[in-house]
Amino acid sequence: MRIAMISEHASPLAVLGGEDAGGQNTHVAELSAALVAAGHEVRVYTRRDAVDLPVTVRAPDGYDVVHVPAGPAEPLAKDALLPYMQPFGRWLVDRWRGGDWVPEVIHAHFWMSGLAALSAGRDTGVPVVQTYHALGAVKRRHQGVQDTSPARRIGYELQLGRSVDRVIAQCQDEVGELVRLGVPRSRMTVIPSGVNLGTFAPLGPAAEVESDRARVLTVGRLVERKGFQTVVRAMALVPDAECVVVGGPPAGLLETDPYARRLRALAGSCGVADRVRLVGAVPREEMGRWYRSADVLVAAPWYEPFGLTPLEAMACGVPVVGTAVGGIKDTVVDGVTGDLVPARDPQALGTAIQRLLGDRIRRFSYATAALDRARRRYSWAVAAQRLLEVYGEVAAVRRPTRVVA
Ligand code: UDP
Repeated sequence: MRIAMISEHASPLAVLGGEDAGGQNTHVAELSAALVAAGHEVRVYTRRDAVDLPVTVRAPDGYDVVHVPAGPAEPLAKDALLPYMQPFGRWLVDRWRGGDWVPEVIHAHFWMSGLAALSAGRDTGVPVVQTYHALGAVKRRHQGVQDTSPARRIGYELQLGRSVDRVIAQCQDEVGELVRLGVPRSRMTVIPSGVNLGTFAPLGPAAEVESDRARVLTVGRLVERKGFQTVVRAMALVPDAECVVVGGPPAGLLETDPYARRLRALAGSCGVADRVRLVGAVPREEMGRWYRSADVLVAAPWYEPFGLTPLEAMACGVPVVGTAVGGIKDTVVDGVTGDLVPARDPQALGTAIQRLLGDRIRRFSYATAALDRARRRYSWAVAAQRLLEVYGEVAAVRRPTRVVA
């Protein structure tokens, strides 16, 4: 099939760890690679955010990344991109109408991409599949006035859910959220993200360990909702371990990053500063080294639409202590592949980490079950296959093309 991915802010070629570059970038990159490996043609359309970007770049995994001129050719916060989604959609229509490559299906990632995709899909008769990656209603609930999303986000997300040809939910929690929003269950198919089982595997080099202490690893963009403060506070209950935080700006810029400074100050006031280490952003291909060096992966977000990092750790044979939120409730089986604790509860988190680090047999049994679960259920090849079934179903339906004056 010819498949157009729309990922307006999250380029599969971006360096990860920064504020707006995380799971969606990985997801789009890995899914596109798996679809190409299965014999399909994939073009990923993302906003051009630098003047020197060529229109099209062939990624090493064989898909094309197309940089769409929509708004200024400079980095912008994703919450500022809404006004550029109309020109984004129009550019796609012009391209597909005049060119030799027309997709058979459009797969939009994030709600703003969905708006561009829906308008382009209506004008060209191409069906649209939507993955939200995150939902405005959940963000609003947790972040309240700090939520900088455009005011109409939640309304647009509902409208999208009712208009696109299929919604892909990534976990059961998201199905519940979408139903509460008003999206009919019949429009959804649940297909979780995958994990790259080549990059993330138990055998391979590991990042150096400088002390005898057990290593608690936590990974993610350095933003408040990822719950790193809870992890730092929990470390006070885990006296013989070090905590390594991977993510955020590159190491050289950590000193000036406001959130990194707050975390360091918090570690100082909790008496754990000598056992908490921030290493900054790590390239995707080096992430496996960090997971393999860990005794436990801690994922303590307030909420999590899916959460790739627990899954990546599991594929490396590392047990997870996670908060019982979002996709983590599906990937981590409590008491089998890891432990689940309530969000924003340093006491519960610290107790669970300390218990696991003190019990070698439990760690081994979680690690074995985690590896098994990741391999059986979460390969990208399986996710791509299931998506191809959905693409085939929606593409089989004939639809009228909107006539544009
Ligand atoms: N990641 C990375 N380098 C970093 C920090 C994170 O490559 O320094 C990757 C991580 O391996 C995972 C993704 O970024 O693939 C984060 O995805 P997740 O779903 O956990 O969180 P999100 O960023 O989408 O909220």
